[in-house]
Amino acid sequence: MATIKISKNNLYHNLNKLALKSGSKNKIAAVLKDNAYGHGIELIAKLTSDWGIEQAVVVSNEEATKVSHLFKNTLVLNDTPINNPKLSYAITEIKALKNAPKGAKLELKVDTGMHRNGILINELKEALNIIKANDLNLYGVFTHYRSADEFSSEFAWQKANFEEVKTIVKQSSIDEVRFHSHNSASLLRCKSFSEDLARVGIAMYGYNELPTPLEQIELKPILSLWAKRSSTRELKKGQRVGYGGDFVTKKDMIISTYDIGYGDGLFRGNSQNPLIIKDGLPILGRVSMDFISIESTKEEICIFDNAKEVAKHFNTISYEITTNLKSRIKREVQ
Ligand SMILES: *Cc1c(COP(=O)(O)O)cnc(C)c1O
Repeated sequence: MATIKISKNNLYHNLNKLALKSGSKNKIAAVLKDNAYGHGIELIAKLTSDWGIEQAVVVSNEEATKVSHLFKNTLVLNDTPINNPKLSYAITEIKALKNAPKGAKLELKVDTGMHRNGILINELKEALNIIKANDLNLYGVFTHYRSADEFSSEFAWQKANFEEVKTIVKQSSIDEVRFHSHNSASLLRCKSFSEDLARVGIAMYGYNELPTPLEQIELKPILSLWAKRSSTRELKKGQRVGYGGDFVTKKDMIISTYDIGYGDGLFRGNSQNPLIIKDGLPILGRVSMDFISIESTKEEICIFDNAKEVAKHFNTISYEITTNLKSRIKREVQ
């Protein structure tokens, strides 16, 4: 069976770097949405909470149920608010605010320029009035940057907009609201961090997506993907391997089948430009649903231990490579 191995040492190395950057481990919210970017939500929640992380971010109530007992608060990004002291809910439009139940902890998401989710700055006063009139529980106010990982002035104007948001909220008579705007990229590039919380996903998993002129902190990928040998055969020169027979042997070869495929979330890609696995060997022919062929007889092979390299091969980002890995793959801590 294919296995995902999670390096506890590398995770703790990354958390340490991030805590130094934010000033405190209490200011880091572990972003665990989408099965912890494919790493395994329960496992990562346990490891991060053991290390001392007190805040989490998930996408749904279903995910919250799996992890919220381990944290002081879990922010749910996209689900219906319920009244639970361990959970807070992102509210991204006025309509949702009007429907929110009394008592539920709400975190107002403000659109400072990404134009994906969030109430507009010119709706903020209306939102604060609804909160007061309906006696709602405002726990936080936050935003999300659209270009924190790009070397441009984009980030600066969005940050200025969020400062304006803070001023408006502080002028209202609602107090004890937490403010947060940073994701991994913006925390890594910021010179002095002063907000209440940073929502950190990809950096915790070991990837720095910042371009080189911006600060480079050494992070270590925590996930490696492994597959086991299921069978081995000797092929003569000129024989073909897999669907369509795309790979033709140029010599006699000993080839094994390993138990991972696109059904596990490994990208199928193009057999004319195969992925080179960690051992330096190419995948031979097409990736099947549950199998690949490799010129090896090892009992277990490492497919990759750095999703960023794989992402480059498939012309995507590290996030997609790991998030694509299915929950059926066994996860273990190293
Ligand atoms: C996913 C997400 C994050 C984490 O982003 P990274 O780039 O992985 O650090 C932070 N905030 C929100 C609102 C998100 O949706």
